[in-house]
Amino acid sequence: MKALEQKILTEGKVLPGNVLKVGSFLNQQMDSDFIMEIGLEIARLYAAEKITKVLTVESSGIALAVAAGIALHVPSVFAKKHKSANLSKEVYTASVYSFTHGETYEIAVAKEYLSKEDTVLIVDDFLANGNALRGLMQIIKEAGAGLAGCAVAIEKGFQGAGDELRAQGIRIESLAIIDGMSDGGVTFRA
Ligand code: 5GP
Repeated sequence: MKALEQKILTEGKVLPGNVLKVGSFLNQQMDSDFIMEIGLEIARLYAAEKITKVLTVESSGIALAVAAGIALHVPSVFAKKHKSANLSKEVYTASVYSFTHGETYEIAVAKEYLSKEDTVLIVDDFLANGNALRGLMQIIKEAGAGLAGCAVAIEKGFQGAGDELRAQGIRIESLAIIDGMSDGGVTFRA
C-alpha cells in the first residue's frame, strides 16, 4: 500500500531498538480516514474468505481491527492483556512476549466471543517477531475456530517472523514491509 509507505516515510520516526514510532497516524493520534482506508484494503484482500470475526490484541491493534470489521461487516474482538496467568475458566488464553516492552503477559478472550463456527481474520498494527500473532493463533486454535489468515499494517521484514509464518502455510498480508531501518531512514521490500 503505497500511501502507507509514504506516510511512514514522512511521519514515522525510527527509535533505538528497532522500534518505529507512528504515533501521529496509527498508534496514538489516529488518522481516521487513513485507518478506514487500511480497513478497506484488508477487507479487499480477504474478500474471498467467509470471515465471521476479526481478532486483535489491545490496544494498538483495535483501531485497525474495527476498521477491517466495519469493511467486512463482521464484529471485531480484542484480546485483553493481563499481567498474571491466574485467569478465569471462561476465557481462552495465551502467553505473549512483548517486543516493545520486553516482558511476557497473558492475553485472554472471553469464550462467548469465539467459537468453532467462526472463521477468523487476525489484524494487528505491527508484525515484528510474530509473538502477538502466534498468541492470537493459539487462542483461535483453543476455540476450535478457523483461521483465514493475518493482516498487519506494518511488517518489519528484517525481523523474519512474517516469512517464517508464511513458510508454515499461514496467509500473512502486510500493507507495508520494511526491509531496513536506521537513523538514515526506512527502506521497503519491493
Ligand atoms: P511481535 O509480537 O510481532 O514481536 O510484535 C508485535 C507487537 O509489538 C505489535 O502489536 C505492536 O504493538 C508492537 N510493535 C512491534 N514492533 C513495533 C514497532 O516498531 N513500533 C511500534 N509502534 N510497535 C511495535
